[in-house]
Amino acid sequence: SKQIGKNTFSFFSEEMDAAAHKRVKVEKLLRHAIERDEFDVYYQPVVDAQQEKIVGVEALLRWNNPELGNVSPEYFIPIAESTGLIHNIGAWVFERSVDVISELSSVLPLTLKVAVNASTLQFRNSIWYKTVLKAIKTRKIKPENLEIEITERLLLDDSREVSEQLKAINDLGIEFSVDDFGTGYSALSYLKRCPISTVKIDKSFVTGIPDVKEDMVLIRAIIAMAHGLELKVIAEGIETAAQLEYLKQEGCDFAQGYYFSKPLPINELRIWLENYVSQ
Ligand code: C2E
Ligand code: CA
Ligand code: CA
Ligand code: CA
Repeated sequence: SKQIGKNTFSFFSEEMDAAAHKRVKVEKLLRHAIERDEFDVYYQPVVDAQQEKIVGVEALLRWNNPELGNVSPEYFIPIAESTGLIHNIGAWVFERSVDVISELSSVLPLTLKVAVNASTLQFRNSIWYKTVLKAIKTRKIKPENLEIEITERLLLDDSREVSEQLKAINDLGIEFSVDDFGTGYSALSYLKRCPISTVKIDKSFVTGIPDVKEDMVLIRAIIAMAHGLELKVIAEGIETAAQLEYLKQEGCDFAQGYYFSKPLPINELRIWLENYVSQ
């Protein structure tokens, strides 16, 4: 058994070495990803849940590196955060998304809202506000066409820089939605004091429809509470008609998920939008 213990130990430590080694490599490559033009933004449609009309898209970052292939944002965003690269990457995603708004408005007779994800760290550095201000000024787009997705963690941060940036960006006319709502914290008092307009029900709850009673009860409660506070509700991760049906019946405002479309590169989004609108 001593022998087994030893092998097990070396097995795990080799695995840990490999993971640490990979991380160092990813970090190094991530540093050059912008200048080497390895990022792309994909867009996932968001529809009005009741009328099933398109209302917007969520911008989701993609990284394709010649050596690593496609790397999931779930893996590289935390690395971008711990290295400080998130500030430049976040600015890059925002600027790209603003460009897309102006492009799409010339192709389609509708005003779409583009939701961009932002990391909590971005709100701790004043570069973020400057990026947002500059992007909307130089591209001359309407701030109502933008939305920023933040997490509960940010809203629990009561530092002055964070609340000032939230307010300053909100004063530009850009609204905030709370992503992954319901998964993180139970203190909900921030809903009253922060400038947010939408909560986004996490897909881990939506996945529970129709089998997990508790998830369905929580969804109903979230929608009732949000509406009571005059907030809109988006549900993400909708994959089936039954899930959409339940959310509609509960009065959910907006819907997003593979049931409508996966995140798409801009050219495919344009085709998807033209087909969807003409249906
Ligand atoms: P998120 O913001 O919660 O985004 C939703 C994720 O669910 C996306 O994964 C999306 O592709 C996926 N998804 C959408 N519909 C469905 C569905 O019906 N079923 C399933 N199973 N999945 C669905 P993705 O693109 O891999 O992004 C993962 C996370 O990475 C995002 O979660 C977000 O937290 C982060 N992320 C992505 N882009 C950015 C960015 O530009 N900035 C920051 N800070 N974070 C980002
Ligand atoms: Ca999001
Ligand atoms: Ca989410
Ligand atoms: Ca998520």
